[in-house]
Amino acid sequence: MAPTTRSTTRAAQAAAQAAGQDIPPLYPRPARRTLTALQRTRNINSGKVSKTWPITRRNKQSRGIFRDGNTCYRLSVLQSLLHTPKFLNLMLEHNQIAADEVITNACTPQSVHEQNARVQCIACSMKGIIRGYWGRINLDGNGAPRPIPRPSTQNEADQPLAFRTAFTEFNNWVDFWIRNPNGEPSPTNKKETDDENRDSDAQHDAHAFLMLLLDGCFRATSPAGLLWHDKFEGLFRYNPDVLVTCSAPDCGVRRNVSQPPGSWGITPIHILQTGTDSISQALDRHLRTHDWDNSECPTCNSKNTHQTTERIEAGPEVFFIHLNLSGQGLKGDIVKIRAAVGLDEDIDLTGYQLDPSTPLRYTLSSVVLHAGNNLTSGHWVATTTAYGKKCVFLNDSQVRVEDKAFLLSNPSTVQGSQHNVAILGYTRIHFPKRMLAELA
Ligand SMILES: [Zn+2]
Ligand SMILES: [Zn+2]
Repeated sequence: MAPTTRSTTRAAQAAAQAAGQDIPPLYPRPARRTLTALQRTRNINSGKVSKTWPITRRNKQSRGIFRDGNTCYRLSVLQSLLHTPKFLNLMLEHNQIAADEVITNACTPQSVHEQNARVQCIACSMKGIIRGYWGRINLDGNGAPRPIPRPSTQNEADQPLAFRTAFTEFNNWVDFWIRNPNGEPSPTNKKETDDENRDSDAQHDAHAFLMLLLDGCFRATSPAGLLWHDKFEGLFRYNPDVLVTCSAPDCGVRRNVSQPPGSWGITPIHILQTGTDSISQALDRHLRTHDWDNSECPTCNSKNTHQTTERIEAGPEVFFIHLNLSGQGLKGDIVKIRAAVGLDEDIDLTGYQLDPSTPLRYTLSSVVLHAGNNLTSGHWVATTTAYGKKCVFLNDSQVRVEDKAFLLSNPSTVQGSQHNVAILGYTRIHFPKRMLAELA
């Protein structure tokens, strides 16, 4: 399925208008616009979160963050989220204390780890980082933001205590969950503590970290009021309807294997090493039909005969797409896929929905990229849209204003080193009612 971009649509419409014709519809218009019940709920809830930038300083520029140890995979993901206004506004609603001391969206008891005093609420840490990053701390003489210093920096003027605490607690939380993925309390003897420290200092996968962080923020907020959770799901939760078909002769059994909670974005999708692949083609292969790895049919017991078809029951406001950069080398070894993969500025997922009568389109707003030969080492950076519709390239403490073409380049080359996109953040395109009526 070829992606339809807004620019080609607009160009065709403009040409038709210039020729004095009526604007031609691209496809026959459906009789009625409907949505799945879940998509309707998600739209309503994500619509309740403001999309304005909560920046409290006059100068609205983005800033870099100095890296402490091997944490570029954290900083690149953090920068991508720090440039997602709806995420910022929702996190600022976490644990809000009103004048009468009534707390809304309070921290959950589990968000503070009882056995380990260093592990504090991750949502509170995120809130502190958001306030500091977009706030008035550490500005130069002209009021422009300077990079966020390392948490260890003691200069009070650069980094007030509240901010330094938030950043330190953020790193402590991440270290803890990387060492203890099952939530086991951390051992206290010296030898094991040293081993852990080495472990948490290792280079980790940026996408695994993004999932950890989103899940942590979600679970750190009390579900008592529910609305905060509903809004969070409206922003990030993807719910596919997954059908599996057995292709063994005389079987053909179909069953639905959807996971009702859904996921924060789409599971890793495979890309080709041909150099001519694109996101829309990779998504098409993934959603339309693909082999289900290591499957065994419960009906006929055949192995590896299953194929999945994935339809969108509900798409999120911000759709994270994870590209699987692991490929097979000539000797059957695991290599990083470094081939070019075209990034579509806009993707049209309308036809993949359970109910395809209402458009579902997205535009690219951020990417997280990896440089290096090997996914367990190397360096992570981010390119994202920023305040004022600019694009910025964020590499630890460095910030460079770039154009849209740079956001769309993959691989992109920076100072002679090649960066491959691993995570894409696509943001929903909302159509005004009048325009929706004209659309296919
Ligand atoms: Zn909290
Ligand atoms: Zn079968």
